[in-house]
Amino acid sequence: MDNTHSHLHNRSYFGEFAAGPLVDWLNSDTRRKKFPKGDAIERGLELNAGIPIQSTQHDVESYIARLVAKSKFAVAPTVESVSPSQWTVKWTPVGKLDFRQGMALIKLLQLADDGLLDRVRKCAKKECGRWFYAKFIHQRFHDLICQQQTFRDDPDYRRHRADSQKRAKHDAKQRQKRQLEAVKKGGKR
Ligand SMILES: [Zn+2]
Repeated sequence: MDNTHSHLHNRSYFGEFAAGPLVDWLNSDTRRKKFPKGDAIERGLELNAGIPIQSTQHDVESYIARLVAKSKFAVAPTVESVSPSQWTVKWTPVGKLDFRQGMALIKLLQLADDGLLDRVRKCAKKECGRWFYAKFIHQRFHDLICQQQTFRDDPDYRRHRADSQKRAKHDAKQRQKRQLEAVKKGGKR
């Protein structure tokens, strides 16, 4: 039996479920008040979004390592329910982070490990900016209303977006070319 589809579906469902505490934290008033300029969790997402152009694997590794060291972050397991085949284990954050921020970090790492971190996005409608988990790869808005309002107010939105994506691709290619040239030059020395 081909269960690829149901596997994908489960994975995406799991992602949405795991993203709950992360998205809740990102949208929370606590975060807005305590960290008006953004917090460690948002910075982690920004780093991820910048790969491979603005950030690298090294940036992410050292960022998480520093964050863990600075906040004395650790994760403690508790067993919640038990059957012969399965235990339900809850992982809770320990350390100096706000409890909900710590939970968000656990979920961020879990989603990253499952290859779903880029599904956590900020609504593309500027005045909204709500964080959400994208059920579909191309989803840019947290709900249909934000999408419809953006398309109504800016009928050229799709074209602008396509243009800016093209530009970003072009810039990335140029940067790569320059890097290659620099390496070649370095080799001749
Ligand atoms: Zn929105």
